[in-house]
Amino acid sequence: MSGPTLLRGTLMHVPGNPFRGEGALEAFEDGALALDGSEVVAVGDYAALRRRFPQAPVDDRRGAVILPGLVDAHVHFPQVPVLGAVGMQLLTWLERRALPEEARYLDEGYAAARADTFLRLLAASGTTTALVFGAHFASAMEIFFQAAERSGLRIAAGLNVADRNLRPELHTSPERALAEGLELTRRWHGRGRLRYAVTPRFALSAGEGLLEACGELLRAVPGALFTTHLNENAEEVRAVAELFPWAADYLATYERFGLVTDRSLFAHDVHPRASELERLATADATVVHCPTSNVSLGSGLFPLRRHLTAGVRVALGSDVGAGTGFGVLKEALAAHQVQMLRDDGERLDPARLLYLATGAGARALGLGGVVGDFGPGRQADLLVLRPPAGSTLEALLAGAEGAESALAAVLTLAGEESVEEVRVGGTPVHGGVPSERGGLDAGGAGAVPP
Ligand SMILES: [Zn+2]
Repeated sequence: MSGPTLLRGTLMHVPGNPFRGEGALEAFEDGALALDGSEVVAVGDYAALRRRFPQAPVDDRRGAVILPGLVDAHVHFPQVPVLGAVGMQLLTWLERRALPEEARYLDEGYAAARADTFLRLLAASGTTTALVFGAHFASAMEIFFQAAERSGLRIAAGLNVADRNLRPELHTSPERALAEGLELTRRWHGRGRLRYAVTPRFALSAGEGLLEACGELLRAVPGALFTTHLNENAEEVRAVAELFPWAADYLATYERFGLVTDRSLFAHDVHPRASELERLATADATVVHCPTSNVSLGSGLFPLRRHLTAGVRVALGSDVGAGTGFGVLKEALAAHQVQMLRDDGERLDPARLLYLATGAGARALGLGGVVGDFGPGRQADLLVLRPPAGSTLEALLAGAEGAESALAAVLTLAGEESVEEVRVGGTPVHGGVPSERGGLDAGGAGAVPP
């Protein structure tokens, strides 16, 4: 090793979990990260790190804000073209917008083009780690994993499976779902930065045999994640209750098949019962809050305080394409806005919002201690934000008094136009030096746990 380099700029991160009183915003206005290959060696004031590493070359990004890479814990690969629909609730939106688009991914050329676009847009938005809801076709997921490997991003994803209530061409069988899942996990789970997530679409489109097959796959693959939807929309919740008369509530439809674990992430949960929250907490499962989607589809205002009081872990998801785009910082802002509209709303300060967009998702995906903040030994996953000249954000940052107000400005206004560079494990995946792009350096890949 030739020794570290210093990345200089305004640094902000949240080490620890501020929802459990374990962390707060740490900011360095003229700060630096000491980076050695794929790893963070140290974070601090530039002057102090300069003294500690007098020989280190400096990558000077003064004027930019450097954050840990964003974590999107719920985003749909085959839904980019349906972004931006208005005026529909969940079940109508699925039938008219999402499912017709998802049926197109049987065409491998179409799936390949869309996979590249999806991953490029994730990176361009500052997302370095994502739990991706897959397509319904194994061929499309093989193509997706190949593209995800090329992208350099940290991706967990899986074949989306259903066997009722969607379009017939999106249906599979329990036997086929298990066989295709096993083959995809054999090829991709634990390879570089990729992992597999067992992914039934939701209980509304899954028979008991299919959920049983999902449980079998989850138990067969050590380190695999599980993800699906839960309690998103009132009409959906009623329909699930009719389909599963034996189930006490929506969560029970997954529980019976061993799908509620500490590696399970449930999107939405806008309408939970108290008992469901208790059981989610006991299992140490995570709920993924998708605020722009919940507002756009009229699903409801997320009861964050009830989740926190029950001890349920919460992360953030963009829910592309029902949400309003890939930006996870925008989701954090929307999480704040939704809480302001609830009588029992949780007041979210900038530190907790940044944690939701970074460390919360990292921990939920089993990557705590690997990514999510700039602690020593973490992988160098980061984004460099430089607002365009003349922009509102540039003006706000120039006048910001203190780190909290600067971070609030970033959360409010930093979109993809402000993303100058994104790195995963020290390697640029967006912006940066072209010759260094797209590779999986051995250090980065090897340091990812299975
Ligand atoms: Zn979703």
